[in-house]
Amino acid sequence: MMTKSELEFQKRLEKFIPPKETWTPIDKALFTPKIYFEDYQNTADLTFNAIKYSFKHHYENNELYKRLCEIKNITPDKIKSKEDFNKIPLLPDSFFKDYPEGKGFLNWLDNLFTGSTPMPQFRTEIPDHDDVIEEFNKKGVRIMFTSGTSGRFSFIPRDTGSWDRLRCNAMRSIVELMDYNPNDTVILLIPDPRLTNLTIASLFGIAYDLYEPENIHVALEDMKITTQFLRMQRNEAIGIKEKIKAKAMSKISPIVQKKSDRRIINLLEDLEKEGKRINIAGPPFWLNRIMERMIKEGRKVKLPDSQVLTGGGWKAEEDKRAPEEIFREKVEDVLGIPQDRYHDVYAMSECSSVFLSCEGHYKHIPPTIIPLVLDEELDPIGYNKFGRFAFIDPIPNSYPGFIITGDKVKLMERCPVCGREGPVLDIEVTRLPGVEGRGCAAVMADLMEQGE
Ligand SMILES: [Zn+2]
Repeated sequence: MMTKSELEFQKRLEKFIPPKETWTPIDKALFTPKIYFEDYQNTADLTFNAIKYSFKHHYENNELYKRLCEIKNITPDKIKSKEDFNKIPLLPDSFFKDYPEGKGFLNWLDNLFTGSTPMPQFRTEIPDHDDVIEEFNKKGVRIMFTSGTSGRFSFIPRDTGSWDRLRCNAMRSIVELMDYNPNDTVILLIPDPRLTNLTIASLFGIAYDLYEPENIHVALEDMKITTQFLRMQRNEAIGIKEKIKAKAMSKISPIVQKKSDRRIINLLEDLEKEGKRINIAGPPFWLNRIMERMIKEGRKVKLPDSQVLTGGGWKAEEDKRAPEEIFREKVEDVLGIPQDRYHDVYAMSECSSVFLSCEGHYKHIPPTIIPLVLDEELDPIGYNKFGRFAFIDPIPNSYPGFIITGDKVKLMERCPVCGREGPVLDIEVTRLPGVEGRGCAAVMADLMEQGE
C-alpha cells in the first residue's frame, strides 16, 4: 500500500515521464522501478542496458568522444558484459571548462554536444556566455554552469529530456531518503532558482517539482546570478561598460545578507509557532551564518519534525570547514532538528544523479549510475579505499556522462546504518590535493562579503 505522500509523488513524477512507446533503455531503467533502494538489483540490471545504449549513442553521434574511443581502441561491440564497463573511456571533468574564449566558444559547445546542436541565431558573432545560455534556454537546452576557484566556468548542456530525467532521478533520491511530505514548507538558502542556471540553484530548485510553490521561500529573491555577475565579483570585468556595472552591483552586500538572514530567522520563528514542518536547504556556510546570527542574538527554535538538506560542498577555505558531525550538533542545538533529520547531498553539474545521505549520514548511490573509485593510475580500486571518484552515467543524451572527477571518496558496498540496498559513499567528500577547489558553495561564498 502506498501512503498519501507516495501517491502524490507518483503523480508529480508522471509529469516528466515520456509515453512508454517512446522509451529508450535509459527511460526503462529510470521509470520501471517503483522504489530505487528496494529494487536495486533489478534497476541496476536495467541500467546496464541503458549504459550499453548510451555508450553507442555517444560513440556514434559525438565526434569528439568517438576520437577518444578510437585512441583507446574501444568500439560499442566490445562492451558486452558488466565486466566490460571498465573499458568505457572516461572524460576528465576539466573537459567541461576547457573552452576557448571568444569566437571559438560556440564551436567548442557544438563539439561537446552529442548529435546535432540546436544552434540558436545570435545577434552578434561573438555572443557572451549569458547570451549563449539564454538563447539555448529558448531552444530547450539548459546549460548549467558552475565555477571553480580559478574563476573558470564549467558548462554542461542538457536537452529537455535529459534535464527531466535528471529531475526525476534526483526527486526519487529525495523522496526515498528523506521524510517526504508534499505539503511541507521549504526554505531555500540560495538565489532564486527560476532566475539562474547556476548548478546549485538549479538542483535545489527541484523543490518546485516536489512541493507547492506557495510553500517555498527563497532567501535571496530578485537576485539574478549570471556568469557576468560572477565574473564581476572577481574583478574580471572587461570593458568600461562592465566596469561601471560591476561597481554599481558590487558584492551581495552585508546589509542585503543581514536583511535576508533576519527575514529567514523571523520566518523560522513564525513557522515554529504555527507548528509547521520545514525543509531547510542550501549550502552549509549559509545555514551556518544564519545559526551564528541566532546564537549571537540568543535566539533558538525547536523544529523536531523539520529537516535540513545541505549541499554544494563547503567553502573553498578548507580550514573554516566544520566537520559534518559538529555541524549537525549545532543544527540540533540551534534549530532543534534531530541529527537523523539532517541530510547532506553530494552533487555536481556533470552528473545526473545526486548522492544524498540517509538518516545515518552515508550518501546513497542510486542504481541508475555506476560509481567508480580510481587510484592514481586511474584503475578502479573497488570498495573501502579512498580514491578518485568517477562514474558512468547513462542518462544524458546531449553529452557523454562517462566522467572522472577531482573528488576524493570512499565507496562502501552497503550502508553501515540503514537497510537500503546498494553502495554508499563515506560521509566526507573532499577535493584531491592539487586539484582546483570547486563547488557551488564556494561560488556562493565568494559572492558574500564577510563580516558585519
Ligand atoms: Zn543508509
